[in-house]
Amino acid sequence: EEKTFSPQKYVPNNVAPESGEFIKRFIPLREIGSGAFGHVNLCRRIGIDEIVVVKFLCKSKVFQESWIEDKDLGRVPKEILVLSRLKHDKIVDLLEVYENLSYYQLVMRKHGDGMDLFDFIELHPLLDEILLSYIFRQIVDAVAYLHSCNVAHRDIKDENVIIDEDFNIRLIDFGSADFMEEGKLFATFCGTMEYCSPEILLGNKYYGPELEVWTMGIILYTMTFFENPYVDVEEAISGQLNLPFRVSAKLTQLIFQVLDPNPKSRASVTQLLANEWTYQPVDIKKYHFFAVMRGQAGHDTSSFIEAELPSDTTTPKISSRYQYVKSESC
Ligand code: ADP
Ligand code: MG
Ligand code: MG
Repeated sequence: EEKTFSPQKYVPNNVAPESGEFIKRFIPLREIGSGAFGHVNLCRRIGIDEIVVVKFLCKSKVFQESWIEDKDLGRVPKEILVLSRLKHDKIVDLLEVYENLSYYQLVMRKHGDGMDLFDFIELHPLLDEILLSYIFRQIVDAVAYLHSCNVAHRDIKDENVIIDEDFNIRLIDFGSADFMEEGKLFATFCGTMEYCSPEILLGNKYYGPELEVWTMGIILYTMTFFENPYVDVEEAISGQLNLPFRVSAKLTQLIFQVLDPNPKSRASVTQLLANEWTYQPVDIKKYHFFAVMRGQAGHDTSSFIEAELPSDTTTPKISSRYQYVKSESC
C-alpha cells in the first residue's frame, strides 16, 4: 500500500554515519569504498578480534522505488531485505544491521583482502582455462542460488565480485537487486552500461535471468581475453563477437551461448549449471595466488592490499580499448 508521502523523503541528513548503537560496538578503521549511496568502511568489533566490512547507506539517497515494506523489518531498502534472506557461501554474508536517523549500517563478513575481479583482471593473472572455469562456476552457483530465492542481482560485474587468495569468490552489492515474480517484467535497468544486454539497450523490458546470464558472459569474456567484448553500445547491440585469440572449442561455444544477443536463444542458468566446460575437474590446490598474480598482488593477508597496476606495457590494457571506468550504478 503506497502512502501519499514517504517519511523517508524527510529523513535528516545530518546525523553522523557511525552514530547510534553501532559506534558502541565497532571502531571504524578506514574507508575502502564510496559511492552515491554512502561509503564502505573496514571496522573492528570492540572486545573481539574481528574485522568486518560496513556499508553505510544514507537513507535520503536511497531511491523511492528501492524501499520495500516487510512484515518483520518494516520499511527498509531492498538491499537490506534481500541480503537478510540470503545465505550462501558465494554470496556476501550480512551479519547485522544497525541504524540511526540518517543511515543504515550494514555489517558484513569481510571476504578476502580487498581485491575484486576488476583489480584481479587488471593485473593480468596467469589464468588457464581450468582456473578460469573455477572462478566462473562460482559466479554461476551464486546466481543459480539467487534465482532459486527469486532474487535478481541486476548489477553483476567484475567490481561486484570479490576474490580471496584461495580463488574463492563472493558476490556483493545488492543495491540494484529486486525480487522476481512469475510473469513480472522489469522496466528499468539500473546496472552498469558496459554490462547491459542488447535487448535492454534497445529498450525492452526483461525478466532478470536473461540479463544475469549476459552480464556473467561479459565477466567470462573479460577474464578470458583481458579486454571488453564491445567497444561501444552500437557494437553491443549488433552482438558481433570477434575473439582476439583462440581458446578451446568448448569455451568458444560457451562464450557465444552466454553472449547471444537474442535473449530467447541465450543460455539459461540451468544450462550453465550443466555446462561441461564450466564444471570441468579442477585441483585448486595446484594454483598459488601469488604465482597466478605474477607476484603483483602482494602477500599481506593481515590488511587490505593496495593493488598496483602492472608496469609491463607489452600486455594489452583493457582501458586502452574501452572507456572502462568504474562507473556508478543507478
Ligand atoms: P557500491 O554500491 O558503492 O558499489 P559495494 O557494496 O559494491 O558498494 O561495496 C564497495 C566496495 O567495498 C566493493 O567494491 C568492495 O571492494 C568492498 N566490499 C564490499 N563488501 C565487502 C566484503 N564483504 N568484503 C570485502 N570487501 C567488500
Ligand atoms: Mg559495487
Ligand atoms: Mg551498488
